[in-house]
Formats: sequence, structure tokens, C-alpha cells
Amino acid sequence: MGVPNQELHTLVDFVSDGYLVTSFYLDVNADEFPAPEHIRQSANSALHTAGKGFKERQKHLSHEAAESLRHDLHKIGQFVNAEFQRDGANGLAIFSCSARELWQVFRLPTKVQTRVVFESQPYVAPLATFFSHAKPTGILLTDRQHARILTMDDGKVTEWADSEDFVPQRSDQGGWSQMRYQRRSDEWAKHHLDHAARLVLQLEQHQAFDWLVLGTEVDVEHDLAEDLHPYVKDRVIGRIHVRIDAPEAEVVEAARKVRDLAEKRLIDRLMRQIQDYEGASGRGALGLDDTLRAVSEQKVHILVVQEGYRQAGAVCPQCRLLLGEWRDVCPACNIPAERVDNVVDSAIQRAFELGSVVEVATEYQQLEPIQWIGAILYY
Ligand SMILES: [Zn+2]
Repeated sequence: MGVPNQELHTLVDFVSDGYLVTSFYLDVNADEFPAPEHIRQSANSALHTAGKGFKERQKHLSHEAAESLRHDLHKIGQFVNAEFQRDGANGLAIFSCSARELWQVFRLPTKVQTRVVFESQPYVAPLATFFSHAKPTGILLTDRQHARILTMDDGKVTEWADSEDFVPQRSDQGGWSQMRYQRRSDEWAKHHLDHAARLVLQLEQHQAFDWLVLGTEVDVEHDLAEDLHPYVKDRVIGRIHVRIDAPEAEVVEAARKVRDLAEKRLIDRLMRQIQDYEGASGRGALGLDDTLRAVSEQKVHILVVQEGYRQAGAVCPQCRLLLGEWRDVCPACNIPAERVDNVVDSAIQRAFELGSVVEVATEYQQLEPIQWIGAILYY
């Protein structure tokens, strides 16, 4: 947790200067859209519907603002039809504001609901699942001779180092010479592990990661964990058993399973903290009303929400108070409030703007004990 995502900040801090931003989400999961033409059909149908919505809004827009939106839709259509390839992604998100030269594409391992939104800000709430489940993660694989380091960051996988230390192979022959040889081999192996541990620390300085997955032979696991710098050691979330020369996809799949489990444990821990804090120190918010109040008061450190939880509500256009039910007027400002279809998305969007961490539970009914939403507060 806590590595700020540059791309997310660019979106959240984006100033549209009176133009509208097109936020385009496309479900591209292979079960429902097995072939490229299914993806294109779905995209073109969503863009066609958006085009009709655009015509409705056009009369309220300046010529430049209308041209910007028209260009957004055209560019997105071109991208999906000519450039996009699924390559294992389940979702696609594009943010475009042509007049202000905004163009960002996210390939998402997580699923999204297809939709096109025109607003003065990028509509980033649906990215919350992606960001909370794609924490930058390092993977260190070692055997007695090799080390491989990979990182998974926002769905991108990079292999960083391919280093090799010479270690004499263990001999099958018995006797004195074998013992001596083996001892020497263990020293080499130890030296190699030191080297691997140093590589991980170097990587951390080069490219920050929240979590680390170790893949080692069973008998050297302990040694390696001992060798890691405490700063890096704290980030180890689990271990995988794959061959050192396993294909990248196999390594990543095994590491993703470890990461999903770590995410589930993290959310369980946050939920327990929220329950504890809520009773005692007041540093927790539990349930929709408490949580919306905490977000409105800018007190949220970590927002925790069940994926798919939604509730109609209202937002005050002046003080931006979030309300979990429809009200005609803001109780604070006494001016008309704006109705929103899903105030949970408004809360996520606001939390991102305020720099809060957002964690999304994807396990079935995981957050039922805290009524689907809660927060850890700063004070
Ligand atoms: Zn207000």
C-alpha cells in the first residue's frame, strides 16, 4: 500500500477548463467476447449509443467542446478497431479530452462494466478494483545458480535481471571429498543468495514495489528470507514453487494467486481494524452514512468497499457533502442537492482526489460484517 500511482494522479488532478472528458470502459473478458470481432461489435455499439447521448448534450456545449468530444469518440473507435489486442486483459479503460490533449489507456486484468461517460472530470471510480488488486509486486526466483527478478505493476509484467553465479553442482559420490565439496557448494549457494538479496534491494530503489513473492528451492527458502534487507523482508507476502526456467506466464499466474490471497488477508485485517476502531477510538467509519460523512470531512486514510456495492444518493454542488439518500437540499448549505445514481462511486472518486487509499473487496460478501463499506480515518 501507499505507492502513489502517477497515472491515477494525472487523471484525478486533471483540469478540463470547461471541456468534457470522455471516460470509456469496455468489458473484453474472453468468456463473453471470445473473438476480436465480438470486442469490436461491443465497442462500436457502446460508442454508437454514446454518440446519441452526445447529440443531446451538444446544444449545451460550445463549438470547441463539442468538437473535442466528437474527436474523443472517433479516436477511441479507431483505437479499439485498429490497435487494441486483448492479450489476457479482461477490461479496457480509455480517458480522452482531445482539446486538452488527455489520452490514457489502461488494460485491466479485472473486469469492468461497459459504459461511456462524459463529465468534467475523468470518471475513475471503476478503476478502484484494478488499483487495489494490481499493487506493484516483485517476484524473486532463485535456485543454486540463477536468479530471476520480475515485477508486476498495473498489469504490466517486466523481467528485470537475469544474473548467474557459478556454483559447483552437488556430487553424488560419497566420502570425504564429497563432504568438503558440498560444504564449498553451500558457501557458494550462500554467496549467491546474498547476491540475489542485494539485487532485490537494488530493484526496490529503482522501481518501488509494495509486495514481494519468493520462489526458491524448498531447502534454501529460509536462508534467502534471512538475507533480505528488513525493509524488503516486510513485504514478502508468500512463496511460489515453479522451476527457475518456467515461462513468464506460469510464474506470473502463480504469483497472482499469492497476491490475491494477500489482498484478501489485507482486507480482512482492515475490516477488523474498522470494527475495533469504530467502537473505541472513533478512528473507524462503518456502513454507508458514517463513511460518506468521513469522506466529506476529508478524514479518510483507507476506504474499504465491496465490489459492486451501489446506492443512490445525492451530492451538494457547493460543499460537496455526500448523502446516502435522496435529499432536495443540502442540510449544510440549504441549496438544492444533485441526485446521483451511485453515491458509492462518488465516494471512491472523492477518496482518490483526496489521496486516500481505496481497497476493493472482490471476495463474495467479504464486507458484509461492516455493511459493505467502511474506512480507517486519520484521526
Ligand atoms: Zn452543501
